[in-house]
Amino acid sequence: VWVWIEQFRGEVISSSWEAIRAGRSIVDAFGGQVTACAFGQGVEGLAQEAIQYGADRVLLADDATLADFRVEAYAPLLTRLAQEHKPAAILLGATTRGRELAPTVAAALETGAIADVTALEVEDGNILATRPIYSGKLSSKCVIPERRPQIVSLRPRAFPRPEPDGGRTGEIVHVAPALAEDEIKTKVTGFAAAEGQVSLADAAIIVAGGRGVGGPDGFAPLVDLTKTLDAALGASRAAVDAGWIPYAQQVGQTGKTVSPDLYVACGISGAIQHQAGMRTSKIIVAVNKDPEAPIFKLAQYGIVGDLFQVVPALTAAFKERLD
Ligand code: FAD
Repeated sequence: VWVWIEQFRGEVISSSWEAIRAGRSIVDAFGGQVTACAFGQGVEGLAQEAIQYGADRVLLADDATLADFRVEAYAPLLTRLAQEHKPAAILLGATTRGRELAPTVAAALETGAIADVTALEVEDGNILATRPIYSGKLSSKCVIPERRPQIVSLRPRAFPRPEPDGGRTGEIVHVAPALAEDEIKTKVTGFAAAEGQVSLADAAIIVAGGRGVGGPDGFAPLVDLTKTLDAALGASRAAVDAGWIPYAQQVGQTGKTVSPDLYVACGISGAIQHQAGMRTSKIIVAVNKDPEAPIFKLAQYGIVGDLFQVVPALTAAFKERLD
């Protein structure tokens, strides 16, 4: 079982470790090896880290052409390696990059890709992957019969993250990139970081606001709560469409799919399209003026009230406990 190790500026995205752990449990039950594929520039250290997290072997491509993720450079490399070594499966995080790489490689290898999987089993030698469909209303079980490798992207935070074991050893195999720079059509010309924000996909806690916040300034009490809880800020589409908050923060069917430990929905009615992006959150807290709001059917904890009173009170209570 192969796992693609996604990294950004040398730091591994947590869902890659979750994928290694998922690969490890398949291999431990059915035999075989976990091979990590680490691509980048100056990423030798990642190979060692991948072994500590559970890989037996690492295919390491360290080259300037791989410094930034570009599907045009990464997909031909992963495709070529898979053609040479014929893995049974390739697992990767269902992140923005993972969801671009998985189908591109699957198309090149003429095999299947199952996206955004929340549970894995193995049946008759095939991976049986569970993924939510119809905005999370149903779960479907998918297999890729016959064609290999089975390419499966795993929803971030849906699988447990392993603990690193400094005592593990493994093999590191250096591999060459598939393309030279002049053969790669896209160029990375710059990068602008969003300052001081916790990424939605990786966040253990998300505080999200909807139309109920009333305007761009209405997010201020939510931002205070995110700072206290080290949480990410999310939003409904209504708030994004109104121009109160960037699209990058949108949660839902046409936004991001998230699975935090705690999701605090403030002034969000809980439309099915919003639920599609957050219903697999472990604990949902809803703050809404309307006791009939559909979000209360999904939430484990509901607070009926004005978010401008409730959210600052929550922030104050958390501050007191966390200090
Ligand atoms: P509303 O439904 O207007 O709810 C606002 C809530 O705030 C109400 O329940 C109200 O009681 C409460 N409220 C108001 N004032 C306060 C206050 N002071 N304190 C507490 N509560 C208050 N939506 C998404 O979110 N994400 C998506 O990805 C998405 N994709 C879509 C895709 C398609 C194809 C379509 C058709 C729709 C999509 N939508 C999506 C839109 C979705 O249908 C809803 O319109 C949207 O989620 C509503 O956002 P909201 O809950 O913020 O607003």
